[in-house]
Amino acid sequence: MRRPLVMLMLLASLIWSAAPVRPYALQFTDSSGRAQIKWPTHTITLAFSSSLSAPPSNIKSGSDVIGALRRALASWSEAADIEFVETTSKEQSISAAGTSGDGISLISIAATPENIAPFVGAASEMSGRTRVFYNRSGNITEADIVLNPYQQFSTDGTPGTYDLEATFTHELGHLLGLEHSSAVGATMQPRQGRNGIYSLPAITPRTLSQDDLAGVRAIYGMRPEEARARGSVTGTITNHAGSPVFGASVWAEEAATGRLAASSITLSNGNYQLENLSPGKYYLKVEALDGPVLVAEIASQRGAYAGLATANSGSFRTEELGELNVTAERTVRRNAQLSEKPAQLNPALIGFNGQLSTIAVPLTPGRIHTIYLGGDGLNLKQLAEGAVTISSPFLNVNPSSITQQQFGANLSVISFDVAVSENTPAGDYSVRVQSATGEVAYVVGGLTVDGANVNP
Ligand SMILES: [Zn+2]
Repeated sequence: MRRPLVMLMLLASLIWSAAPVRPYALQFTDSSGRAQIKWPTHTITLAFSSSLSAPPSNIKSGSDVIGALRRALASWSEAADIEFVETTSKEQSISAAGTSGDGISLISIAATPENIAPFVGAASEMSGRTRVFYNRSGNITEADIVLNPYQQFSTDGTPGTYDLEATFTHELGHLLGLEHSSAVGATMQPRQGRNGIYSLPAITPRTLSQDDLAGVRAIYGMRPEEARARGSVTGTITNHAGSPVFGASVWAEEAATGRLAASSITLSNGNYQLENLSPGKYYLKVEALDGPVLVAEIASQRGAYAGLATANSGSFRTEELGELNVTAERTVRRNAQLSEKPAQLNPALIGFNGQLSTIAVPLTPGRIHTIYLGGDGLNLKQLAEGAVTISSPFLNVNPSSITQQQFGANLSVISFDVAVSENTPAGDYSVRVQSATGEVAYVVGGLTVDGANVNP
């Protein structure tokens, strides 16, 4: 029997850019969330640098750069009440950090010294950066996007390159005021795979997830022609002693489909907010941020999540907060107090096709996939019977397929088979693991079904 080769691909799951990490998270001017960073108008004028039409050699020859950018812009403008106005500029370089900018919101791929500067040191592997300028009330005055001149890009899935449209779509989320999401399948998750990860093109981020949609709609609202009554959920997460928990990840799954609907990271006062949910039943859950990498990505930032690392909410057990009913024009309040018991189960990595990573696994409807999970506590002796489940009627885990895999001393890995129904709705789905003692943990949005239209 051939043992599948599982390689740790963490180094290949590169950090997108420097903004903070959170389930859909909005950018605020400070950690209490007083002012949301957003464009003051629904019409946003962007200048296409002339470099886009004369791409440098790090862009695969023949790539339609402007087409990829326009498709990325359309993904966001179709999702929320925003319009982009496209202008052109001979300008090549983004505005420098620490200045008030030049007032031109530039999108550039030129290899100028100013554009190379954001990619030194730890940032050298990033695909792109977005620099947002805003005033004290949070109004964006300028936002510039630049792609890393030292990285390779393409639009045709060439292994080892970054996908242009996926990169632009992610950076445009920052330009609109979104921070990183901890939902693995979200376009705004902090890590981007190069083409070739899982032996596939890395194009999942071209498609906005429900979490991305909920985030951008929370800032700008739905397009008027699509606007319909929505509800929201809010609350406070406290620890066993009653103190607010900063940096807990709260997410909601649609009860009917199991799809991830929206997620949010708690602010320093323990508050979270999930807005723009379609009326219906949801399951609400809360987990700690995953591992030191994720916390470092958050804590390195200014704004809402600055100081998160030192706030040290620590690890805590994932809690299932039950079902809730969202109704139009109403806000449901759901607070939660976390248990004092330490977390022992943490499935931090997911993968298939011989690779293990922090990038969502794209599923094909009608197929059976063998999925791998890696992390703490994934030992069959310590797991419950039928330990792995997916709370979706469209995704069925075969309990007898759950197998221990042996990989090195410091990582426990299990695999399982999941059958994906032909009619599985596009969206992101979470994998649930349960220990013999009853502890549960999730890979939130770790499985994704790409689709042209993920709107409900
Ligand atoms: Zn980013």
